Amino acid sequence: MTLQTVLDELAKRPGAGDVISIINPVTEEQIAEFTDCGEEAVNEAVARAKAAFEAGVWSELPGRARAKVMWRIADLIDEHAEELAQLDSLNTGMPLMQARLGLPNCAEFFRYYAGWCSKISGDAYDVKTAGIASDTWVDMHTYTRKEPYSVVGLIFPWNGPIFNACAKLAPALAAGCSMLVKPAEETPLSALLLNRLIAEAGVPDGVVNLLTGYGHTAGAAITAHPDVEKVAFTGSTEVGKEIVRASADNLKKVMLELGGKSPVLIYDDADMEKAIFMASMGIFVHSGQGCVCGSRIFVQRGVYDQVVEGVANMANFIKLGGPDEEGCMSGPLISAKQLTRVMGFIDEGRSDGVEVVTGGHRLDRKGYFVHPTVLTNVNRDMRLYQQEIFGPVVTILPFDDDDEAVAMANDTTYGLAATAWTNNLSRAHRLGKRLQAGTVTINCQLVFDHAVPFGGYKQSGWGHEFGQEGIEAYLKTKSVWAQL
Ligand code: NAD
Repeated sequence: MTLQTVLDELAKRPGAGDVISIINPVTEEQIAEFTDCGEEAVNEAVARAKAAFEAGVWSELPGRARAKVMWRIADLIDEHAEELAQLDSLNTGMPLMQARLGLPNCAEFFRYYAGWCSKISGDAYDVKTAGIASDTWVDMHTYTRKEPYSVVGLIFPWNGPIFNACAKLAPALAAGCSMLVKPAEETPLSALLLNRLIAEAGVPDGVVNLLTGYGHTAGAAITAHPDVEKVAFTGSTEVGKEIVRASADNLKKVMLELGGKSPVLIYDDADMEKAIFMASMGIFVHSGQGCVCGSRIFVQRGVYDQVVEGVANMANFIKLGGPDEEGCMSGPLISAKQLTRVMGFIDEGRSDGVEVVTGGHRLDRKGYFVHPTVLTNVNRDMRLYQQEIFGPVVTILPFDDDDEAVAMANDTTYGLAATAWTNNLSRAHRLGKRLQAGTVTINCQLVFDHAVPFGGYKQSGWGHEFGQEGIEAYLKTKSVWAQL
């Protein structure tokens, strides 16, 4: 499927609202435009999804039959991996190599959750109950059933378009749900191709419904719709709160994977070369537009200067550029809006007395590129220290002992991820317990597996994706009692 075919398909999408431009963040030129799908398209999609669910064309298939289709989706993703990578790379500006590396994981979501299709089961309970007004015990046959939510809304951001789509679609399909799929308005291209592959693999009509539009229109209409039983959302904490408020009317269930301000602790006994390299990659990769990026580094005082210098050197070493530029290691920010936001944090920090060790400016070229930036002399009251920047900006502060390090690391409203670099085994596992984050990584960063649950503490989220908890997020538990 060529880019032109995807763009033609985008042009044919239902539209009833504003015209939305897709901008190439490397060239600042328009790739395409499309019309926001509007509320009516959402209502129609919900009706289609509900009808498909009630007809049982997917939800009532035996698990093994759903699994077969999911394996076909995985194979089709593999077959079309290059096109999907090129679409994401064009749409986000990320290096083509980075987009390519992510594709096997996307296919694997469908294979991993295909395995779960045939393992959805409840429990049986050996229960007796007291008869009314009697002192006899009555035997009961009691069991739980795991049943899919009927219609679910899947809403996700632009930072990893195809990965985010697969992470939500695979468990929702495995559970047997019908769904509305809303990619970010900036990056709908790979979702269009995926949508086609899902149909080609044999998912029946009406089960997967792609909606292309803005968050405040299409996204909000999904969240407010009374027939949507659950919303699974990945995005900013701010919008996550809006979704919770909008869901209140029908008390729909909500799963949230939100932002972070993740701490990285580097001790003087760590493998310093590896720690400096990974802590740098952990914030500068994808220009800091990753939810688990380690944007606050804390360093034991004796090695503080060494780490600041090492991370600054890495910041200067990373070559920014467009997907087809020789040797490019990281791409631009997604949009002019994001560029203004990131530069706003840096400029405010400068006027508050922050020291800019390196970076702190956009590149003198076309595209929304910001030089990887290292900031010191930061204090906890600064906005740039408290809020998620979602750009290539890291603050580095010293600490003296474990208690101080943990207090500073946990001093945030977020709790998505945290990292410790130390060769002291006992300390490493003490930190594994004390750091308040849904994921703690020890002597590693940016690790992931389909089988391992992922979710946020505090204001970084509700619920989990991946692993067994990932499919359970799309299942309801019913208890059935039968008197014998
Ligand atoms: P965003 O919250 O602005 O948008 C995310 C999605 O929500 C988009 O599809 C958008 O159209 C939609 N949306 C916006 N307003 C809406 C509304 N009122 N109702 C319903 N939907 C709405 O986030 P973003 O700026 O696109 O993405 C960056 C954020 O995503 C960062 O905060 C990042 O940390 C977070 N993120 C989290 C994870 C995770 O797994 N925890 C993963 C990736 C990104």
